[in-house]
Amino acid sequence: MSALVKGRRDWPAVLSLGFNIDPSGKRRKPVPISIVTLGILLPGFAMWGLYRAFTTPTGIGLWVLAAALYVFTMFGVTLGNHRYWTHRGFEARFPLRVVLAVASGMSMEGDIQGWVLNHRAHHRFSDVAGKDPHSPYEYPGWRGYKGLLWAQGVWLFFRYERPPGYAVHRDLAQDRLVQWQRRAFPFLVVANFGVPLAFYPLYGWNSVLIAGALRTAALMTATGFVNSVCHKWGHRAKDSRGHEYRADDSRNNFFVAVVAGGEGNHSWHHADPGCPRHGRRVALDAEAAAAGVKPERGWHPDATWRLIQLLAMLGLIRNVKQPKATIYFADKQLVPSLPLRQTHREWHMSEPAETQELLAS
Ligand SMILES: [Zn+2]
Ligand SMILES: [Zn+2]
Repeated sequence: MSALVKGRRDWPAVLSLGFNIDPSGKRRKPVPISIVTLGILLPGFAMWGLYRAFTTPTGIGLWVLAAALYVFTMFGVTLGNHRYWTHRGFEARFPLRVVLAVASGMSMEGDIQGWVLNHRAHHRFSDVAGKDPHSPYEYPGWRGYKGLLWAQGVWLFFRYERPPGYAVHRDLAQDRLVQWQRRAFPFLVVANFGVPLAFYPLYGWNSVLIAGALRTAALMTATGFVNSVCHKWGHRAKDSRGHEYRADDSRNNFFVAVVAGGEGNHSWHHADPGCPRHGRRVALDAEAAAAGVKPERGWHPDATWRLIQLLAMLGLIRNVKQPKATIYFADKQLVPSLPLRQTHREWHMSEPAETQELLAS
Protein backbone atom coordinates (compact mmCIF):
# COMPACT_ATOMS: atom_id res chain seq x y z
CA MET A 1 0.00 0.00 0.00
CA SER A 2 1.53 3.26 -1.11
CA ALA A 3 1.46 6.21 1.25
CA LEU A 4 1.28 8.52 -1.78
CA VAL A 5 -2.20 9.56 -2.82
CA LYS A 6 -2.47 11.72 -5.95
CA GLY A 7 1.06 12.99 -5.63
CA ARG A 8 0.89 14.03 -2.00
CA ARG A 9 1.62 12.08 1.10
CA ASP A 10 -1.33 10.41 2.78
CA TRP A 11 -0.36 11.40 6.30
CA PRO A 12 -2.96 9.28 8.14
CA ALA A 13 -1.54 6.22 6.34
CA VAL A 14 2.07 7.19 7.17
CA LEU A 15 1.28 7.86 10.84
CA SER A 16 -0.73 4.67 11.24
CA LEU A 17 2.37 2.57 10.37
CA GLY A 18 0.29 0.39 8.07
CA PHE A 19 -2.18 -0.62 10.76
CA ASN A 20 -4.92 1.15 8.78
CA ILE A 21 -4.89 -1.68 6.22
CA ASP A 22 -6.30 -5.08 7.26
CA PRO A 23 -4.78 -8.43 6.16
CA SER A 24 -7.11 -8.59 3.15
CA GLY A 25 -5.92 -5.15 1.95
CA LYS A 26 -9.07 -3.32 3.02
CA ARG A 27 -8.76 0.10 4.63
CA ARG A 28 -9.80 0.24 8.29
CA LYS A 29 -11.96 3.04 9.65
CA PRO A 30 -10.21 4.96 12.44
CA VAL A 31 -12.10 5.74 15.67
CA PRO A 32 -11.06 9.35 16.47
CA ILE A 33 -12.48 9.33 20.03
CA SER A 34 -10.35 6.26 20.93
CA ILE A 35 -7.24 7.71 19.28
CA VAL A 36 -7.59 10.98 21.21
CA THR A 37 -8.57 9.52 24.62
CA LEU A 38 -6.68 6.20 24.72
CA GLY A 39 -3.90 6.98 22.25
CA ILE A 40 -2.97 10.54 23.22
CA LEU A 41 -4.58 11.93 26.41
CA LEU A 42 -4.40 8.88 28.71
CA PRO A 43 -0.79 7.90 27.87
CA GLY A 44 0.22 11.58 27.98
CA PHE A 45 -1.18 12.18 31.45
CA ALA A 46 0.04 8.75 32.61
CA MET A 47 3.61 9.64 31.56
CA TRP A 48 3.25 12.92 33.44
CA GLY A 49 2.08 10.94 36.47
CA LEU A 50 5.04 8.56 36.13
CA TYR A 51 7.42 11.54 35.95
CA ARG A 52 5.84 13.04 39.09
CA ALA A 53 6.06 9.68 40.89
CA PHE A 54 9.85 10.07 40.74
CA THR A 55 10.14 13.83 41.11
CA THR A 56 7.56 14.78 43.76
CA PRO A 57 6.99 13.44 47.29
CA THR A 58 4.35 10.67 47.34
CA GLY A 59 3.06 9.12 50.55
CA ILE A 60 1.93 5.56 51.17
CA GLY A 61 -1.69 6.78 51.20
CA LEU A 62 -1.52 7.81 47.54
CA TRP A 63 -0.21 4.39 46.50
CA VAL A 64 -2.87 2.62 48.56
CA LEU A 65 -5.50 4.74 46.79
CA ALA A 66 -3.99 3.91 43.37
CA ALA A 67 -3.79 0.19 44.19
CA ALA A 68 -7.36 0.11 45.53
CA LEU A 69 -8.72 1.76 42.39
CA TYR A 70 -6.62 -0.57 40.21
CA VAL A 71 -8.04 -3.65 41.92
CA PHE A 72 -11.61 -2.28 41.95
CA THR A 73 -11.66 -1.49 38.22
CA MET A 74 -9.74 -4.70 37.41
CA PHE A 75 -12.42 -6.84 39.05
CA GLY A 76 -15.05 -4.82 37.14
CA VAL A 77 -13.41 -6.19 33.98
CA THR A 78 -12.27 -9.67 35.05
CA LEU A 79 -15.18 -10.65 37.30
CA GLY A 80 -17.85 -8.47 35.63
CA ASN A 81 -17.22 -8.13 31.89
CA HIS A 82 -15.36 -11.37 31.45
CA ARG A 83 -16.36 -14.15 33.80
CA TYR A 84 -19.93 -12.96 34.40
CA TRP A 85 -21.31 -11.10 31.36
CA THR A 86 -19.28 -12.81 28.62
CA HIS A 87 -19.09 -16.41 29.83
CA ARG A 88 -21.81 -16.58 32.53
CA GLY A 89 -19.68 -18.70 34.83
CA PHE A 90 -22.02 -17.99 37.78
CA GLU A 91 -25.11 -16.05 38.82
CA ALA A 92 -24.66 -12.71 40.57
CA ARG A 93 -27.07 -10.82 42.85
CA PHE A 94 -28.29 -7.42 41.60
CA PRO A 95 -26.32 -5.21 44.06
CA LEU A 96 -23.09 -6.95 43.03
CA ARG A 97 -23.96 -6.53 39.35
CA VAL A 98 -24.45 -2.78 39.87
CA VAL A 99 -21.05 -2.45 41.58
CA LEU A 100 -19.41 -4.48 38.79
CA ALA A 101 -21.09 -2.36 36.08
CA VAL A 102 -19.76 0.83 37.72
CA ALA A 103 -16.27 -0.64 38.21
CA SER A 104 -16.24 -1.90 34.62
CA GLY A 105 -17.13 1.54 33.23
CA MET A 106 -14.46 3.18 35.38
CA SER A 107 -11.83 0.93 33.78
CA MET A 108 -12.33 2.92 30.54
CA GLU A 109 -12.31 -0.33 28.55
CA GLY A 110 -15.58 0.52 26.80
CA ASP A 111 -19.11 -0.31 27.87
CA ILE A 112 -19.99 -3.86 28.91
CA GLN A 113 -21.94 -4.67 25.73
CA GLY A 114 -19.12 -3.67 23.36
CA TRP A 115 -16.50 -5.44 25.49
CA VAL A 116 -18.51 -8.66 25.66
CA LEU A 117 -19.36 -8.79 21.93
CA ASN A 118 -15.71 -8.22 20.98
CA HIS A 119 -14.62 -10.87 23.43
CA ARG A 120 -17.15 -13.46 22.29
CA ALA A 121 -15.94 -12.86 18.72
CA HIS A 122 -12.37 -13.31 20.00
CA HIS A 123 -13.27 -16.77 21.33
CA ARG A 124 -15.09 -17.75 18.17
CA PHE A 125 -12.28 -16.64 15.84
CA SER A 126 -9.23 -16.88 18.12
CA ASP A 127 -6.06 -16.12 16.17
CA VAL A 128 -7.80 -16.16 12.79
CA ALA A 129 -6.30 -13.13 11.03
CA GLY A 130 -8.92 -10.67 9.81
CA LYS A 131 -11.64 -12.08 12.08
CA ASP A 132 -10.26 -12.09 15.62
CA PRO A 133 -10.56 -8.48 16.88
CA HIS A 134 -7.11 -8.62 18.50
CA SER A 135 -4.85 -11.48 17.51
CA PRO A 136 -1.07 -10.95 17.56
CA TYR A 137 -1.05 -12.88 14.25
CA GLU A 138 -3.03 -10.15 12.46
CA TYR A 139 0.24 -8.66 11.12
CA PRO A 140 3.33 -10.80 10.52
CA GLY A 141 5.77 -7.84 10.13
CA TRP A 142 8.56 -6.53 12.38
CA ARG A 143 9.54 -10.08 13.43
CA GLY A 144 6.06 -10.56 14.87
CA TYR A 145 6.14 -7.45 17.04
CA LYS A 146 3.78 -5.54 14.74
CA GLY A 147 1.01 -8.03 15.51
CA LEU A 148 1.93 -7.95 19.18
CA LEU A 149 1.51 -4.16 19.23
CA TRP A 150 -1.78 -4.50 17.38
CA ALA A 151 -3.14 -6.96 19.98
CA GLN A 152 -1.74 -4.92 22.85
CA GLY A 153 -3.93 -1.93 22.02
CA VAL A 154 -3.61 -0.52 18.49
CA TRP A 155 -6.75 -2.49 17.51
CA LEU A 156 -8.75 -0.12 19.74
CA PHE A 157 -8.00 2.79 17.38
CA PHE A 158 -9.87 1.19 14.46
CA ARG A 159 -13.43 0.11 13.96
CA TYR A 160 -13.84 -3.66 14.33
CA GLU A 161 -16.48 -4.92 11.91
CA ARG A 162 -18.04 -7.63 14.04
CA PRO A 163 -18.81 -10.80 12.08
CA PRO A 164 -22.47 -11.77 11.48
CA GLY A 165 -23.96 -13.09 14.68
CA TYR A 166 -21.73 -10.94 16.88
CA ALA A 167 -23.35 -7.52 16.38
CA VAL A 168 -26.07 -7.87 19.02
CA HIS A 169 -26.71 -10.63 21.55
CA ARG A 170 -30.09 -11.05 23.14
CA ASP A 171 -28.84 -11.58 26.71
CA LEU A 172 -27.10 -8.17 26.59
CA ALA A 173 -29.81 -6.35 24.63
CA GLN A 174 -32.40 -7.43 27.22
CA ASP A 175 -30.23 -6.68 30.26
CA ARG A 176 -31.43 -3.31 31.54
CA LEU A 177 -28.34 -2.82 33.69
CA VAL A 178 -26.04 -3.42 30.71
CA GLN A 179 -28.06 -0.96 28.62
CA TRP A 180 -28.01 1.62 31.46
CA GLN A 181 -24.24 1.20 31.77
CA ARG A 182 -23.91 1.85 28.04
CA ARG A 183 -25.57 5.23 28.39
CA ALA A 184 -23.75 6.00 31.65
CA PHE A 185 -20.31 5.06 30.29
CA PRO A 186 -19.08 8.64 29.61
CA PHE A 187 -20.09 9.64 33.17
CA LEU A 188 -18.33 6.59 34.63
CA VAL A 189 -15.16 7.62 32.78
CA VAL A 190 -15.48 11.07 34.39
CA ALA A 191 -16.02 9.37 37.77
CA ASN A 192 -12.81 7.39 37.20
CA PHE A 193 -10.95 10.68 37.57
CA GLY A 194 -13.50 12.35 39.87
CA VAL A 195 -12.95 9.79 42.63
CA PRO A 196 -9.16 10.37 42.83
CA LEU A 197 -9.77 14.13 42.42
CA ALA A 198 -11.67 14.03 45.73
CA PHE A 199 -8.27 13.30 47.33
CA TYR A 200 -6.79 16.52 45.90
CA PRO A 201 -6.61 18.18 49.36
CA LEU A 202 -4.34 15.31 50.51
CA TYR A 203 -2.17 14.58 47.47
CA GLY A 204 -2.57 17.56 45.13
CA TRP A 205 -2.47 16.84 41.38
CA ASN A 206 -0.75 13.52 42.07
CA SER A 207 -4.17 12.18 43.05
CA VAL A 208 -5.42 12.59 39.46
CA LEU A 209 -2.14 12.02 37.63
CA ILE A 210 -0.94 8.98 39.59
CA ALA A 211 -4.04 7.41 41.19
CA GLY A 212 -6.06 8.44 38.11
CA ALA A 213 -4.21 8.44 34.79
CA LEU A 214 -1.16 6.30 35.63
CA ARG A 215 -3.30 3.68 37.39
CA THR A 216 -5.83 3.55 34.51
CA ALA A 217 -3.04 3.19 31.94
CA ALA A 218 -1.46 0.42 34.05
CA LEU A 219 -4.68 -1.63 34.04
CA MET A 220 -5.16 -0.98 30.33
CA THR A 221 -1.62 -2.31 29.76
CA ALA A 222 -2.24 -5.40 31.91
CA THR A 223 -5.47 -6.11 29.99
CA GLY A 224 -3.59 -5.64 26.72
CA PHE A 225 -1.03 -8.24 27.85
CA VAL A 226 -3.81 -10.86 27.99
CA ASN A 227 -4.54 -10.22 24.30
CA SER A 228 -0.94 -9.92 23.16
CA VAL A 229 1.51 -11.74 25.44
CA CYS A 230 -0.98 -14.49 26.38
CA HIS A 231 -1.39 -15.46 22.72
CA LYS A 232 2.36 -15.74 22.21
CA TRP A 233 4.46 -16.50 25.27
CA GLY A 234 3.79 -19.04 28.00
CA HIS A 235 2.67 -22.65 28.43
CA ARG A 236 -0.28 -24.36 26.85
CA ALA A 237 -2.90 -26.04 29.03
CA LYS A 238 -2.59 -29.85 29.26
CA ASP A 239 -5.58 -32.18 29.42
CA SER A 240 -5.92 -35.44 31.33
CA ARG A 241 -3.99 -37.33 28.65
CA GLY A 242 -1.22 -34.77 28.84
CA HIS A 243 -2.17 -33.35 25.42
CA GLU A 244 -1.61 -29.65 24.93
CA TYR A 245 -4.43 -27.31 23.98
CA ARG A 246 -3.72 -26.25 20.39
CA ALA A 247 -6.98 -24.95 18.98
CA ASP A 248 -5.46 -21.47 19.10
CA ASP A 249 -2.24 -19.86 20.31
CA SER A 250 -3.43 -18.90 23.80
CA ARG A 251 -0.90 -19.40 26.61
CA ASN A 252 -0.74 -19.47 30.40
CA ASN A 253 1.59 -16.68 31.47
CA PHE A 254 2.41 -16.39 35.16
CA PHE A 255 3.40 -12.70 35.09
CA VAL A 256 0.18 -11.67 33.33
CA ALA A 257 -1.83 -13.85 35.72
CA VAL A 258 -0.39 -11.83 38.63
CA VAL A 259 -0.99 -8.34 37.19
CA ALA A 260 -4.37 -9.12 35.59
CA GLY A 261 -6.17 -10.93 38.41
CA GLY A 262 -5.71 -14.46 37.05
CA GLU A 263 -6.61 -13.68 33.44
CA GLY A 264 -3.08 -14.62 32.38
CA ASN A 265 -4.02 -18.31 32.72
CA HIS A 266 -5.31 -17.76 29.23
CA SER A 267 -4.70 -21.13 27.61
CA TRP A 268 -6.84 -22.76 30.29
CA HIS A 269 -9.47 -20.13 29.71
CA HIS A 270 -9.60 -20.78 25.96
CA ALA A 271 -9.62 -24.52 26.57
CA ASP A 272 -12.63 -24.28 28.92
CA PRO A 273 -14.20 -20.80 28.44
CA GLY A 274 -17.31 -21.41 30.55
CA CYS A 275 -15.34 -22.27 33.68
CA PRO A 276 -14.92 -19.22 35.94
CA ARG A 277 -11.70 -20.64 37.39
CA HIS A 278 -8.80 -19.85 35.04
CA GLY A 279 -5.90 -20.70 37.33
CA ARG A 280 -6.09 -24.49 37.39
CA ARG A 281 -4.81 -27.80 36.11
CA VAL A 282 -6.40 -31.20 35.74
CA ALA A 283 -5.33 -34.62 36.98
CA LEU A 284 -3.77 -37.07 34.53
CA ASP A 285 -5.80 -40.22 33.91
CA ALA A 286 -4.41 -43.63 34.90
CA GLU A 287 -3.39 -44.46 31.34
CA ALA A 288 -1.39 -41.25 30.89
CA ALA A 289 0.20 -41.59 34.33
CA ALA A 290 1.19 -45.19 33.56
CA ALA A 291 2.68 -44.07 30.25
CA GLY A 292 4.91 -41.65 32.16
CA VAL A 293 3.29 -38.46 30.85
CA LYS A 294 4.51 -35.44 32.79
CA PRO A 295 1.71 -33.56 34.59
CA GLU A 296 1.29 -29.81 34.25
CA ARG A 297 3.36 -28.04 36.85
CA GLY A 298 3.61 -24.60 38.36
CA TRP A 299 1.47 -22.17 40.25
CA HIS A 300 -1.48 -20.60 38.47
CA PRO A 301 -2.50 -17.57 40.55
CA ASP A 302 -6.11 -16.47 40.01
CA ALA A 303 -7.23 -13.61 42.27
CA THR A 304 -10.58 -13.32 40.47
CA TRP A 305 -11.40 -16.96 41.32
CA ARG A 306 -10.54 -16.31 44.98
CA LEU A 307 -12.95 -13.36 44.91
CA ILE A 308 -15.65 -15.57 43.36
CA GLN A 309 -15.21 -18.03 46.25
CA LEU A 310 -15.44 -15.19 48.79
CA LEU A 311 -18.53 -13.63 47.18
CA ALA A 312 -20.16 -17.09 46.99
CA MET A 313 -19.57 -17.47 50.74
CA LEU A 314 -21.20 -14.05 51.27
CA GLY A 315 -24.20 -15.12 49.18
CA LEU A 316 -23.64 -12.51 46.44
CA ILE A 317 -22.77 -15.16 43.87
CA ARG A 318 -24.36 -18.59 43.35
CA ASN A 319 -24.48 -21.54 40.95
CA VAL A 320 -20.76 -21.24 40.25
CA LYS A 321 -19.69 -23.59 37.44
CA GLN A 322 -17.08 -25.76 39.10
CA PRO A 323 -13.91 -26.79 37.26
CA LYS A 324 -13.95 -30.39 36.07
CA ALA A 325 -11.38 -32.73 37.60
CA THR A 326 -10.57 -34.31 34.22
CA ILE A 327 -10.75 -32.78 30.75
CA TYR A 328 -10.11 -34.24 27.29
CA PHE A 329 -9.45 -31.74 24.54
CA ALA A 330 -11.20 -32.63 21.27
CA ASP A 331 -9.02 -34.78 19.04
CA LYS A 332 -9.76 -32.43 16.17
CA GLN A 333 -7.72 -29.72 17.86
CA LEU A 334 -4.74 -32.03 18.04
CA VAL A 335 -4.37 -32.95 14.36
CA PRO A 336 -0.72 -32.11 13.76
CA SER A 337 -0.86 -32.14 9.95
CA LEU A 338 -3.15 -29.12 9.72
CA PRO A 339 -1.79 -25.64 10.31
CA LEU A 340 -2.78 -24.40 13.73
CA ARG A 341 -5.25 -21.73 12.73
CA GLN A 342 -6.81 -23.86 10.00
CA THR A 343 -7.54 -26.50 12.63
CA HIS A 344 -9.22 -23.93 14.80
CA ARG A 345 -11.33 -22.48 12.03
CA GLU A 346 -13.09 -25.82 11.68
CA TRP A 347 -13.74 -26.17 15.35
CA HIS A 348 -16.73 -24.40 16.79
CA MET A 349 -16.32 -22.97 20.28
CA SER A 350 -19.28 -23.86 22.45
CA GLU A 351 -20.91 -20.81 23.94
CA PRO A 352 -23.39 -20.31 26.77
CA ALA A 353 -27.02 -20.99 25.89
CA GLU A 354 -27.90 -17.30 26.32
CA THR A 355 -25.65 -16.30 23.47
CA GLN A 356 -26.82 -18.99 21.05
CA GLU A 357 -29.90 -16.97 20.30
CA LEU A 358 -28.80 -13.94 18.39
CA LEU A 359 -30.64 -10.89 17.31
CA ALA A 360 -30.11 -9.94 13.69
CA SER A 361 -27.47 -7.27 13.36
ZN1 LIG B 1 -7.57 -14.98 24.04
ZN1 LIG C 1 -13.04 -15.19 27.60
